[in-house]
Amino acid sequence: MFRTLLLAATAMTFAVPAAADPIREATQRALPQLIDFYRDFHANPELSLHEVKTAAKLAAEARKAGFEVTERVGGTGVVAVLRNGPGPILMIRADMDALPVTEETGLPFASKVRATTDEGQETGVMHACGHDTHMAAWIGTLRNLASMKDRWRGTLVMIGQPAEERGMGARMMLDDGLYTRFPKPQYALAFHDSASLPAGTIGVTSGYALANVDSVDLIVRGIGGHGAYPHTTKDPVVLAARIVTALQTLVSREVDPQQPAVVTVGSIHGGSKHNIIGSDVTMLLTVRSYTPEVRRQLLDGIARIARGEAIAAGVPEDRMPVVTVKDEYTPSTFNTEPQTGQLQALWTERFGKDRVVATPAVMGGEDFGRFHLADKSIQSTIFWVGGVPRAKWDEAQAGKASLPSLHSAHWAPDAEAVVGTATEAMTAAALYILKH
Ligand SMILES: [Zn+2]
Ligand SMILES: [Zn+2]
Repeated sequence: MFRTLLLAATAMTFAVPAAADPIREATQRALPQLIDFYRDFHANPELSLHEVKTAAKLAAEARKAGFEVTERVGGTGVVAVLRNGPGPILMIRADMDALPVTEETGLPFASKVRATTDEGQETGVMHACGHDTHMAAWIGTLRNLASMKDRWRGTLVMIGQPAEERGMGARMMLDDGLYTRFPKPQYALAFHDSASLPAGTIGVTSGYALANVDSVDLIVRGIGGHGAYPHTTKDPVVLAARIVTALQTLVSREVDPQQPAVVTVGSIHGGSKHNIIGSDVTMLLTVRSYTPEVRRQLLDGIARIARGEAIAAGVPEDRMPVVTVKDEYTPSTFNTEPQTGQLQALWTERFGKDRVVATPAVMGGEDFGRFHLADKSIQSTIFWVGGVPRAKWDEAQAGKASLPSLHSAHWAPDAEAVVGTATEAMTAAALYILKH
């Protein structure tokens, strides 16, 4: 299915209709300035929960556009409200955090920022997920809508969200009264730049769009000793190997084949020397699903398999594996109907069908889904905006290059195409939702 999508996308054209359109005109006029914002965000990235200067820039721009602004909502979160008479309440979100990645794009405005993570690791910092494009388009949308107040009615709530990359920011803002201290939205919108769609293309997924993401620490404990005398030990390396293999049957043998699920052991560490049997092995897992039922099934299954294999290996009760489901959980993101389909139709009319494609759901995560889960009556849509530069896309299609993914040190989206398309799409969507 995805292959078909890629082939279809190859034939795309980017002709902009000449017909005067106020949203497109306003966006194109603002674009050079929005790109300045993008480059400034890009050159000055801040890690999750540390988005202090970034948040201040968003707050200042919202104030200038006439919004009522509250800062430090759920950590560094920004809430900007524009009331424009009675009518629907729409929330538009941009995430603000960057990643502990040392940039290798070679861009003239590449980040040289270094920081220490909350875990104490010294690292480069980079907007490797493109949240800089999200914020630039957020400013563009906010300015467009402030200048078009005669074309809509209702209340606009624009939020800058911290710590998306750690799956915490949306929850922190909700816990800090996002829906009680400020107008509670009936509609919610966000977009994410895409490293698998050509620049300027919009991708829309109906229903589940992104996955439940759980991180699990699994510590396998044995009884250490001399490598030459294994019979006097309980070898945690052999036990860990069995657990890794048995975990593969969760998806292949236990979960309904119609239900997407992933169990990946991303890290495994144990032992120190050739001839020593260590006493434990630490494994770090990522676990992905869409529904709460499959999520429960996987997490329970991991604990059961770990314990079962330990019993089979003769590990004593007080050395059973320790399974910890981490707090940094991202729930799956669900795009609701009818809003998602309506917006897809609206954008198809505006950009042409070559630039708006139905994209399959992915097993990546996004905590935007929490804003809908906190009140399921909220109509919610997150959409993709392609960022792969045209020349790179063509090279990749010809098999001459491979494309960097999001989070790569080489991810350099075509920012003009992403910010321009997203600002226009978001403005048009807001005017549609807030029509009077
Ligand atoms: Zn990311
Ligand atoms: Zn992201």
